[in-house]
Amino acid sequence: GQFWHVTDLHLDPTYHITDDHTKVCSSSKGANASNPGPFGDVLCDSPYPLIMSAFDFIKNSGQEASFMIWTGDSPPHVPVQELSTEMVINVIANMTTTIQSLFPNLQVFPALGNHDYWPQDQLPVATSKVYNAVANLWKPWLNEEAISTLRKGGFYSQKVTANSSLRIISLNTNLYYSPNIVTLNKTDPANQFEWLENTLNSSWQNKEKVYLIAHVPVGYLPFSRSTTAMREYYNEKLIDIFRKYSDIIAGQFYGHTHRDSIMVLSDKKGSPVSSLFVAPAVTPVKSVLEKQTNNPGVRLFQYDSRDYQLLDMFQYYLNLTEANLKGESNWKLEYILTQAYDIEDLQPKSLYGLARQFAVLESKQFIKYYTYFFVSYDSSAICDEKCKTFQICAIMNLDRISYTGCL
Ligand SMILES: [Zn+2]
Ligand SMILES: [Zn+2]
Repeated sequence: GQFWHVTDLHLDPTYHITDDHTKVCSSSKGANASNPGPFGDVLCDSPYPLIMSAFDFIKNSGQEASFMIWTGDSPPHVPVQELSTEMVINVIANMTTTIQSLFPNLQVFPALGNHDYWPQDQLPVATSKVYNAVANLWKPWLNEEAISTLRKGGFYSQKVTANSSLRIISLNTNLYYSPNIVTLNKTDPANQFEWLENTLNSSWQNKEKVYLIAHVPVGYLPFSRSTTAMREYYNEKLIDIFRKYSDIIAGQFYGHTHRDSIMVLSDKKGSPVSSLFVAPAVTPVKSVLEKQTNNPGVRLFQYDSRDYQLLDMFQYYLNLTEANLKGESNWKLEYILTQAYDIEDLQPKSLYGLARQFAVLESKQFIKYYTYFFVSYDSSAICDEKCKTFQICAIMNLDRISYTGCL
């Protein structure tokens, strides 16, 4: 079987071509857009035509997929006062109806992102206007039980089809995101940990397999030292649960960092037990201070339809500079995971072996990985010794003790 993963669309409805480059998009926050064209600019969030080009590519790719996962962040990166609850809901509704009208027969499993709320990052532990709105918008995709927990806490679980033994668990990890002050000092915000353990336990009893999807990833950020995206306490708690249920969790899929990265969770003895994939964004946005960003990307996973083991991943991308120059979007295959790195499949053992190869001095595999990290935005980008240490330690160590040991 196959499924698509799209994430971090970040629509900027203000994007328009104009001679005054400070006014191309609100998401550039007054900075001069660098080279704005019909498909966007690296200092701006996505114009609608960029998002449409991504979904058009998926629709016309000729690939048969049984479902799509969509891991959040639809609104633009703009100052808090430029948005409102109503505007955030409107953007999510726009993206939802775009997907529903292009793919009327495709099962989609969404997850909420930290920008899918107003004010951003402050996702609440009880029902809210946004949770209610998405529960209504996503009714065509989700069953009653899923809608009910989504309405209450922004998370849900659902089997892929009524008679399949594959379950999607969509977590609201924004509750654990460090800037979320609503959940400060809460041990189990929205009782999501309790719900997650109960859900995994009944999946185990029913001999199901689970794909876990969420916006903010567990583990350490690959580009900085000793920084988890979540508060550390929540990270440790999730890692404990994922280790306990690693036999039934057949894959984990995240967004949020806007970069293409992998992680391998090991058990306490150091054996690899779970494969995690962070998908790059559709938005190419970066801040003025950053040198690197990502080209827009979407990806397709292949799995064994008997046991839902992950077999391969196809990463597709749009060369934004080229698309703007030609005035047409030519989405292309960037790489196939098993072929790019000459590995067997996407199982934890295979990814762990690959990470060990990355760690070798001047590893050619790692140089490739670092180019793909930015979705081939800049193949001359260099990762020095320190940079490489953070990358490798983040790939292979998701808990405090093992990460510190790795450094
Ligand atoms: Zn994002
Ligand atoms: Zn995010």
